[in-house]
Amino acid sequence: MHRYEPNLRIPGPTHLPPEVREAGGRQMINHRGPEFAALLARIDRRMRVFFGTENEVLLLTAAGTGGLEAAIVNTLSPADRVLAVPIGVFGDRFAKIASTYGADVQRLETEWGRAADPDALRANLAADADYRAVLLTHNETSTGVTNPIAALAAVVRELAPSALIVVDGVSGLGAAPFEMDAWGLDVVVTGSQKAWMAAPGMSMIALSERAWTAVDAARMPRFYFDLREARKTAANGQTPWTPALAVMYQVDAGLALMEAETPDGVFARHAVCGAATRAGLEALGFPLLADRAFASNTVTAAWIPEDLDWKVFNAALKARSVILAGGQGKLKGKIFRVGHLGAVNVDDILGAIGAMEEVARSLGRPVEPGAAVAAAQRAVLAAVEPRLVAPEGVPA
Ligand code: PLP
Repeated sequence: MHRYEPNLRIPGPTHLPPEVREAGGRQMINHRGPEFAALLARIDRRMRVFFGTENEVLLLTAAGTGGLEAAIVNTLSPADRVLAVPIGVFGDRFAKIASTYGADVQRLETEWGRAADPDALRANLAADADYRAVLLTHNETSTGVTNPIAALAAVVRELAPSALIVVDGVSGLGAAPFEMDAWGLDVVVTGSQKAWMAAPGMSMIALSERAWTAVDAARMPRFYFDLREARKTAANGQTPWTPALAVMYQVDAGLALMEAETPDGVFARHAVCGAATRAGLEALGFPLLADRAFASNTVTAAWIPEDLDWKVFNAALKARSVILAGGQGKLKGKIFRVGHLGAVNVDDILGAIGAMEEVARSLGRPVEPGAAVAAAQRAVLAAVEPRLVAPEGVPA
């Protein structure tokens, strides 16, 4: 049956709500005028809530990677010792940006699919805490793992008190509780095409006072991403360079929807969609990659069984307008990923699981009709209304 809108189940860019789509089509304004100043201030004010910060949130016209680059070049100098704590493709990229600009990058490795372990970090820093910065990933999109940032940051603060804690929050912020100030984080970055329900093109970044002090001392080269310029012009309600206005309109519209839903409502919706996705995929016989205790509520990665032809499976789903993401890096061809962030609701997930169930059956896999959808629905019930579900998962 034809579906007029694809069920875009990739971890960004995400589906745009009608209000956001319309906002992107609005007429241009003078980006050096008062309407723009009001737009910038509104985005900053609403973003702070999701960053959990009283620091200003600056807007950069760039993909998330640009925001990460800005975080590095504005706080570090060549030869600075940096501890990278990658748990997947995006953590590797963060480390690579730092080494590209001449940082001396040491790595604390974690098996992909697991979260960074605060005890391992503690042991690492107990042996050597001479770092200018520690690079962490909030939500690793390539593996579907959310790191325990508060616990990791607490270890850094204790053992390497002068190290800056720099966090890639591209795919987790806005979808899960986050407390930049309370957790003692120094730089946090996110991207418009993730939980913010907008098109790609803007990166948002916030710095602690400590980080701003580091900006003055940093000697890595920068021009477009010089945050001193961004801060100076933001004080006058502007950005240094011509911004991606249409994307800013969308971020503004997305934040208005998120404010109306309330942050707790947004987080709960993501948690429910995450739980439903995990339960549905497992019931379909797809083992999950992520350690259950740290499973992401924005993206789920599942192993492709040896006897499943992923290309055929994926093409059949695409023909049914369900768009999944493949694996990245060393997980390419081994896993697939289902995005559940931004403007996602339970119906989108049940629809995707139902389509996967039918396609899996049509390929001869031993799938009971309706079983995976039922498992996903039970997970929804358990999350939304635990009283309705008996302990063993059978509706009471
Ligand atoms: N970091 C994480 C955790 C991501 O998920 C992504 C994008 O998927 C990025 C960084 C890079 O963002 P962009 O593709 O917008 O440059």
